[in-house]
Amino acid sequence: MLNHEITGRCLCNRVSYAITGHLGIFQYCHCSRCRKFTGSAFAANLLVSPADFRWIRGEEYVGRYEVEEAQHFATSFCKFCGSSLPWLGKSGKAVVVPAGTLDDDPLIRPMHNIFWGSRAPWYIEPSALPHYDELPPRKR
Ligand SMILES: [Zn+2]
Ligand SMILES: [Zn+2]
Repeated sequence: MLNHEITGRCLCNRVSYAITGHLGIFQYCHCSRCRKFTGSAFAANLLVSPADFRWIRGEEYVGRYEVEEAQHFATSFCKFCGSSLPWLGKSGKAVVVPAGTLDDDPLIRPMHNIFWGSRAPWYIEPSALPHYDELPPRKR
């Protein structure tokens, strides 16, 4: 699917990374851990092979937090600006790349929702809500 390299970075630009190779999985995760970490309704993540991932710069700013009782889940973040960053699963088999940190279009699209049964009780499909290109119109 993807043969060129795409890059990503954190908000403060101290950390950047590159991924190459085949992107197989792009998914939304609604688990409670992803909600806590992202502060949002769900996480949008790509899974890539560790062989296809590398830090370009700022690795010294990358923090990691492991949820002790989790088999797979960990998190990474920029120690300076707090942005989510890619993290190696505890099994070492996949790097989980938060899609919102990408600079480029990965050219694949999310294929499913996981941990749907754990979704926030307040979650509403975005397509069911009004859309404004920027801010909503001012009320007069
Ligand atoms: Zn940063
Ligand atoms: Zn999750």
